[in-house]
Amino acid sequence: MDSQHRHGHAIVIGGSISGLLAARALSEAFERITVFDRDELPRSPAARRGVPQSRQIHGLLARGREVLEQLFPGFSDDLAEAGARFGDLQSDLHWYQDGLLLKPGASGLIGAGASRPLIEHVVRTHVASLPGVTIVDRCDARGLTATADLRRITGVRLRVRAPGATEAVAYADLVVDATGRGSRSPVWLEDLGYGRPRAECIRVRATYMSQVYRHEPHHFNGRMGTACAAYPGTPRSGFALVQEAGRVVIMLGGYLGTQAPRDHDGMLAYARTLATQDYAEIIRTATPLAEPVKMQHPASIRRHYEELDRLPEGYLVLGDAMCSFNPVYGQGMAVAALQGLLLMDLLAETREELGRRFFNAAARLLDTPWGVVAGGDLRFPEAEGTRTARTEQFSEYLTRYRVAAHDDAELVTAFLRVTNMLDDPSALMTPEIVARVTAGWLKGREEDEARPRRVTAR
Ligand SMILES: Cc1cc2nc3c(=O)[nH]c(=O)nc-3n(C[C@H](O)[C@H](O)[C@H](O)COP(=O)(O)OP(=O)(O)OC[C@H]3O[C@@H](n4cnc5c(N)ncnc54)[C@H](O)[C@@H]3O)c2cc1C
Repeated sequence: MDSQHRHGHAIVIGGSISGLLAARALSEAFERITVFDRDELPRSPAARRGVPQSRQIHGLLARGREVLEQLFPGFSDDLAEAGARFGDLQSDLHWYQDGLLLKPGASGLIGAGASRPLIEHVVRTHVASLPGVTIVDRCDARGLTATADLRRITGVRLRVRAPGATEAVAYADLVVDATGRGSRSPVWLEDLGYGRPRAECIRVRATYMSQVYRHEPHHFNGRMGTACAAYPGTPRSGFALVQEAGRVVIMLGGYLGTQAPRDHDGMLAYARTLATQDYAEIIRTATPLAEPVKMQHPASIRRHYEELDRLPEGYLVLGDAMCSFNPVYGQGMAVAALQGLLLMDLLAETREELGRRFFNAAARLLDTPWGVVAGGDLRFPEAEGTRTARTEQFSEYLTRYRVAAHDDAELVTAFLRVTNMLDDPSALMTPEIVARVTAGWLKGREEDEARPRRVTAR
């Protein structure tokens, strides 16, 4: 849309990844966009209070990187200049699933190892330079204002975080909630007489502990990292990625109340129980650059705004505020990027019925990443969530798939294309793939019977 057609004012609440991506999308259609965040936003890459996950390991999926590049040309170069590591997600990263190494190979899927503060900083720098965009920090959104008939949201009630400051109201034609997992939208909408969206949960009571070490070239034999997933009977996981500034981050995770200890010896002992010794080796030999940081993530939560009978005009919710995933799947930023792109496309058509159109399309977009979480987490009998015959069958199929993928690089690529949101899960069910999975699984089972310790779980 050219500048003559941009009109009106949009407000985005939350200046983190999703809020910034929303601002990018809105900048095509609105003359002015104001992003409010309650934190003091750092001028250089730094962790901050409003984003407690900023000290935890983060990686960028291939699709997320592609969309960020599309929305911010030069994004990958900026990350690379700051020292981020890029690599093929199948050859440069080792994946252990159900205790087995998935066969490495060239997938063409390029992901990034970069800290969460660096990614946010690069995105914010791009957004801040867009015409019409103003980012205002230390402004806490306290509620919404609406027309007398409550049909349209007209603005946001704000409290400026400065001594003696009182509440103020900022008015806009469109308000976007990008305040993350703790979003107050369900309460705000209910206070205005609308329903609360249904919240769907998948509860695995996950704990993550990340620690930063000095990276040495021989770590992971020169690869960018290793991901080792928890599986039924083994609720422990690990993830490690090389990042900018000569750092490597090790994450030790646990499901269902299992937690890695915080002290060096305890971490080492925990890491030694995993299917790969990659983490233990670094914990044992590398120089720690910071204290380990723990974070709980009790459940993935998806709020179904698309199901509400009535929605106010001029209001959207996106990012973690709409759906917050178990972080182990690394999907949050990629989904935020895809929602930004979606919003841009919808606005390019028309502003009519924007809320209804956005929530419906965003719900369809969420089905794949949510299905990935359900397919992985609901395999744990103790996990809480809605199981259907279809999800159970698919999950059983994926268990066989993982065994076959141990010895079949093409199956691994197909799997990673789905988890990277490039393909629909149906791509894993074509007749050709099903035949390969069946053959590979039978072969793995025979070998397992011959050498019982090779396949550790089914
Ligand atoms: C442990 C962990 C690891 C993760 N690892 C990955 C990974 O590897 N890859 C990946 O893609 N994703 C990962 N994620 C998810 C990712 O961090 C988020 O999806 C991503 O940050 C997008 O979040 P968001 O912008 O929607 O919300 P957030 O990042 O939570 O930001 C919300 C923003 O809103 C502001 N805010 C909140 N309330 C108000 C208010 N009332 N008024 C004004 N401002 C407000 C906050 O200050 C903050 O800036 C991980 C998450 C966790 C918890």
